[in-house]
Amino acid sequence: MMRWMFLLAALLLTAACDTGGLLSTSEMDPHDQARINSFVEVIQKVEPVAETECVAFGLAHNCNFQIQVDTNPEEPPNAFQSLDRKDRPVITFTMTLIETTQNNDELAFVLAHETSHHILGHLARQAKNAEAGAQILGQMATLDGANPVTIARARQIGAELGARSFSKEYELEADHLGTIIAYEAGFDPLKGAAYFDRLPDPGDQFLGSHPPNAARKKIVLQTMRDIRAAVASGQPITLGTLAGAGG
Ligand SMILES: [Zn+2]
Repeated sequence: MMRWMFLLAALLLTAACDTGGLLSTSEMDPHDQARINSFVEVIQKVEPVAETECVAFGLAHNCNFQIQVDTNPEEPPNAFQSLDRKDRPVITFTMTLIETTQNNDELAFVLAHETSHHILGHLARQAKNAEAGAQILGQMATLDGANPVTIARARQIGAELGARSFSKEYELEADHLGTIIAYEAGFDPLKGAAYFDRLPDPGDQFLGSHPPNAARKKIVLQTMRDIRAAVASGQPITLGTLAGAGG
């Protein structure tokens, strides 16, 4: 199966320089091409705001986001954040996610949410929680006189539990900052968060990785109320002045 991934940063570059040939979207069907064009528009507005918030927050070493699309039609709708070998933040959207969004506000909200995970240092915090979980369960198995295979398995389970222990909180934090970034980039976060309505609701599972959709929408609503209050009173919109920040 043909699988290709391209960098939208490169697409933006070629659009500016008209060098052509660096990559081609001509093989895509026109509908996909139109959605990609919308996504590029969204990136042009959201990325600079995310970069500014990232530098202001001061936690990440690298705020130069690289945004890419996985066009494999077999990949389910998904967007995620990772780091490349040089610690550059990479945001990947699957084409199927881009296709399932209904407007640019939804695309902007998902992009703002993913950049927020990086700005708030969630990958590093999750890795720390995983290591702590691995140590605790590994030590328990060791004290229990378990063999090396069982200890290794205990460490693995501990790491999984540790990694999940705060993931719902991180999702809500990313929704909070994502609302601010999407708003500052000129999008409507309330319209954008309507995307949750079409996701299967994970419910309130113990150690589930995602909070219930209702909790996510509540954070977006509350953040928008705080943004409007800040705007009305002439205050700057920052994480520090908003209720529920940090967390
Ligand atoms: Zn997330």
